[in-house]
Amino acid sequence: MAATFRGTTPEPPDVRPRLTVLSGPSGVGKSTVVAHMRKEHPEVWLSVSATTRKPRPGEKHGVQYFFVTDEEMDKLIANGELLEWAEFAGNRYGTPRAAVLERLEAGEPVLLEIDLQGARQVRESMADAQLVFLAPPSWEELVRRLTGRGTEPPEVIERRLDAAKIELAAEPEFDVTLVNTSVEDVARELLALVDVV
Ligand code: ADP
Ligand code: 5GP
Repeated sequence: MAATFRGTTPEPPDVRPRLTVLSGPSGVGKSTVVAHMRKEHPEVWLSVSATTRKPRPGEKHGVQYFFVTDEEMDKLIANGELLEWAEFAGNRYGTPRAAVLERLEAGEPVLLEIDLQGARQVRESMADAQLVFLAPPSWEELVRRLTGRGTEPPEVIERRLDAAKIELAAEPEFDVTLVNTSVEDVARELLALVDVV
């Protein structure tokens, strides 16, 4: 089944926003969709966040995240080096400001994959940012994906599902919703939104 825009398909704005935020509950498939899109379009620049979370097997420093200590995160925040940051399910995550601003100043599209609290901060500081919400086909499917990924112990999954209820309720705050039924379809729709030619 094709991924669908929920509600009416939005009219393209007169001037394309250059910064796109992809958000949605943990386990919905954000990383999978972005990785699929970037495999075919490596020119899409994705901001690499800093996090105090420990790496999952296969994750590399500087690729999925900059893995930092609590003290290093404290410094990044105190020095104003993060465009936004949030605590999510017991860890802190933040977007390094300088790299994002460099890309935007060069007129290049920027993609952030961040949580709801971060998306709200970006909306406050960058009014023309485009906020995209990735929704699961159903609650049961979200639980299945988060559990099936097998990367978190049950108590962390519970925390993430609690957060997911709050994130799902915030969908109307976003400019566009994509339903992640098919990775291929959503990756194509996201590419069109990011607008890389
Ligand atoms: P997120 O980055 O949003 O936390 P992930 O990209 O890690 O989520 O995906 C969570 C799990 O769901 C992974 O095991 C992934 O393979 C699976 N998944 C992602 N998209 C789909 C999809 N469209 N259909 C079925 N499974 C999916
Ligand atoms: P995970 O631990 O599964 O990689 O990410 C957990 C949540 O943190 C996800 O919703 C992810 O989008 C979000 N996240 C990742 N990087 C950032 C960031 O820089 N800022 C914010 N606010 N959230 C982030």
